Amino acid sequence: MSFEAKSLYPFQPERDLSQMHVGIIGGGPAGALTGLLLAREGMDVTIFEPRSKRMPEVGERKRLCVGCAGLLQENAIELLQSLDLNIPGEVIQAKLTNSVIHFPGGKTMVIPSHALTVYRGFGPVGTSEKIMGFDAWLLNEAEKAGAKIIEAQVTNVHSDGKNVDLESSVGSKTADFLVGAYGHNQVHMKLPEQDNPLGVPVTQPACVREYYLGYEKVKEKLGQSQHIFANPTPEIWYAAIYPKGPFISIALMGRNGASQNDYKDFLGLKAVQELIGDLEHMRLSCGCTSHITVRSPETVVVSNKEGGFHIANLGDAGGQRPRKNGIFASLDSAAKFAEVLRLYGNTPQAIKVFKRYITTNYVWDNWPSEVVLQSLDLFLNHEFPRKLIIYLGNGNVPLVSEAVRRTIDLVSSGRYPYWQIPMRAIFDIKR
Ligand SMILES: Cc1cc2nc3c(=O)[nH]c(=O)nc-3n(C[C@H](O)[C@H](O)[C@H](O)COP(=O)(O)OP(=O)(O)OC[C@H]3O[C@@H](n4cnc5c(N)ncnc54)[C@H](O)[C@@H]3O)c2cc1C
Repeated sequence: MSFEAKSLYPFQPERDLSQMHVGIIGGGPAGALTGLLLAREGMDVTIFEPRSKRMPEVGERKRLCVGCAGLLQENAIELLQSLDLNIPGEVIQAKLTNSVIHFPGGKTMVIPSHALTVYRGFGPVGTSEKIMGFDAWLLNEAEKAGAKIIEAQVTNVHSDGKNVDLESSVGSKTADFLVGAYGHNQVHMKLPEQDNPLGVPVTQPACVREYYLGYEKVKEKLGQSQHIFANPTPEIWYAAIYPKGPFISIALMGRNGASQNDYKDFLGLKAVQELIGDLEHMRLSCGCTSHITVRSPETVVVSNKEGGFHIANLGDAGGQRPRKNGIFASLDSAAKFAEVLRLYGNTPQAIKVFKRYITTNYVWDNWPSEVVLQSLDLFLNHEFPRKLIIYLGNGNVPLVSEAVRRTIDLVSSGRYPYWQIPMRAIFDIKR
């Protein structure tokens, strides 16, 4: 696959970026990939990330991950491959070939969909096995490409409008510009002009839990399927169960957020018990409540005095696909950022192209994603439209059945912007 954004703009001679120094806050997917790609261009790259990328020793207490279920959708894998980054087998915990959609009322639909599961951060909590997490692998790749990783948290950012100073517990660093890839965390920034403040994403709490069942049992119960539950309880609009090595991951998203209390109702559902048995009294290996973007900020870039990048926020800190496929969106915005710098240098043109991409691919989704959510309620909570969808999706009505299956796949995966779903469902546009 070739990365979609490349073909959108006319060919430009590549710029020499080797004199520039970028400071990156955060070594998650957005920060690590940005650092890796800019280091490949010869830029002087420093990534600040407080979590250690070293694999923990057996029995050592691990720093918790960012709170994510670790499902890598097909387009995230393709994007990495297009950049010559092949996820090693030891990082992959399951290769999925289909999604089983569970509807209210007990009916199901199987849709082919390719995805991988990985451990986020540095491997699973609750096992003594040494298993490499996705974030640790990507950060190591960034380091191999020449990025410097500083194991520290950035506490303050100062700017004079030309350079940025990043302050951390191990000292400060001056850079030509800053990439904010710090997820949904906040970093204190003191900028000279406040007329163009960075926007902040609107988020909601979402939960994940991991249970240890052992390799055999996970294989027997889930095989190569992810199980998605549409509107399973009055509070939860989306739940998913994934196989992940010897564990299963269960993620919950609510209409107005989710909490750990929501697991009681979800795990008590007949369909869930039939699938994975009674987990309610089983020891939880790991679980947390974290945040997911429901609306992207409109301003993700601050310009310097020459009109080039001074600060760019990427991934969860910047434009995101609301509620879905966050790892892909983080990798995608990182790849686009590196690409505009390579093609246009640190110029106003680079900012213009980058902003247009983030706006059309992410910011434009802010309201359509709400419409999708409301429409789902309309269809799924009423018996007649729900039965019609299940009948069409499981059937073979020419053109219509395929369009229904594609719509369900696009809504559940977040593979493309929500506003493009009607077009893609009807015309089967792959890219
Ligand atoms: C419950 C839940 C389940 C999810 N499941 C999935 C899923 O299955 N698939 C999917 O694609 N997406 C999922 N997501 C979304 C996904 O986790 C995020 O979109 C993705 O991690 C964003 O990547 P990022 O690099 O922007 O930020 P993060 O992954 O949050 O990384 C930010 C990094 O910045 C570091 N950092 C923060 N502050 C500082 C600082 N001051 N100085 C230095 N470093 C700092 C942090 O340590 C962290 O490593 C889920 C989210 C939630 C809440």
